[in-house]
Amino acid sequence: MATSGYPCEAWIRKFKVKSSELKIQLPIRHTPYTIYYCRIVFLLWLIIFSGCKARQLARTTPQMDIEPRFWIRVLLLNSARACTLTVTSSFAVLDAQTQTTEAYFNQSDAPANITISAGRIAISGRPFTGEQIIILPDRPHIFNLNGDDYRGKLKLILNPNSNSFNAINLVPLEPYLAGVVGAEMPDYWEPAALEAQAIAARTYCLYIKKHFGSKRAWDVRKTEANQVYLGVAAESTQIWGAVNKTWGRVLVCKQTDGDEKLFPAYYSSTCGGHTENSKHVFGGDSFEPLVGVPCPYCKDVAKPSFFFWPMIQFDKTSITNSLLKRYPKLKRLGKIASISSAKQSNYGEFSRLTSVKLLGSTGKSDFLRAEDFRLSIDPTGRKLRSTICQIVNMGDKWAFLSGRGYGHGVGMCQCGAQGMARGGKTSRQILFYYYPGSNIIRVY
Ligand SMILES: [Zn+2]
Repeated sequence: MATSGYPCEAWIRKFKVKSSELKIQLPIRHTPYTIYYCRIVFLLWLIIFSGCKARQLARTTPQMDIEPRFWIRVLLLNSARACTLTVTSSFAVLDAQTQTTEAYFNQSDAPANITISAGRIAISGRPFTGEQIIILPDRPHIFNLNGDDYRGKLKLILNPNSNSFNAINLVPLEPYLAGVVGAEMPDYWEPAALEAQAIAARTYCLYIKKHFGSKRAWDVRKTEANQVYLGVAAESTQIWGAVNKTWGRVLVCKQTDGDEKLFPAYYSSTCGGHTENSKHVFGGDSFEPLVGVPCPYCKDVAKPSFFFWPMIQFDKTSITNSLLKRYPKLKRLGKIASISSAKQSNYGEFSRLTSVKLLGSTGKSDFLRAEDFRLSIDPTGRKLRSTICQIVNMGDKWAFLSGRGYGHGVGMCQCGAQGMARGGKTSRQILFYYYPGSNIIRVY
């Protein structure tokens, strides 16, 4: 280490102070030896405390023996040809159909390449005959796929063309939620907001699993298409605190047959002042808790540029191309010549578009749900942040003005939940406000 790094030595050189004087004038904490000592203590402190955090987060994955209906299957890779797997514990490879152990790998820090070899899934060059294999890590049941840590198991499914595979994380519900809550909300937000988020996310994924999972090999994607899941990277003490405090709790509501059942507990970032009826945004079944409520709480929490977002423009040709790509039936319209509001929800100082009318150069017209229109022309939803906006014809472009809010606006407003929590509301009060008529029960 360069001695010039010590301010007191530089000070000695600059003012040519004798060492005898220095001993008197400088407090003991300024001597180089003490600084060395302090640095060593600081480094030890850093190592000990970061080690504690790593150990805490690497604690063994809970619920590994829970019944199958509480395992969530998350699509991690779709049609991959290769990936990198690192497991810092020993792990078994099972044939998914027969559940027999095909191989056992000892602990290794070296990454293994998963590839396709002669139409089979291969790990480190060793092919497996089964078309579906499961990698089962030993405690703490964590594996690393392409640089990201996940809990539970990894299922690999060979696609029918035998030249690619899907990678699916099989993870019990509670550790799955730890990877969602920390991705969907900052962990420094109020505990009540994090707890409300955990209950909403638990409800949402169980509903999606029940209603869509039976038709496919996975339940949810790891993106905003469902809810964002970042695995172990999203975990922290606060996030696990919210998951543990709400363990097994879900939202239900009375449905047409009179029974209380799960409903799709949608949520979105910033509603802009009023949440929206799910029927207007997604269509489908109607649920009492998803009718829409006033929200005076998100304005003071959301970033100003998310609450009121600036004008954006899209080239007319690119809008036509994006719409035709997702909806080939619109080809009969020709080039989109006019986009106008067909339906909207009015909330006093603003309205949310819920249906848009498209008029084409052929003179034919069609309608799209406004949320489908938004995500067709901006699939990330990060530029065209909501359908609370006005659409204006600007020559060769369409402009979106007076934008307000971020997300689809259905169900709990996440920034609003934080606003309510800051005001002292509990997670139950937050959830019952945004999902009126709902109840909370425990599933285990
Ligand atoms: Zn709101």
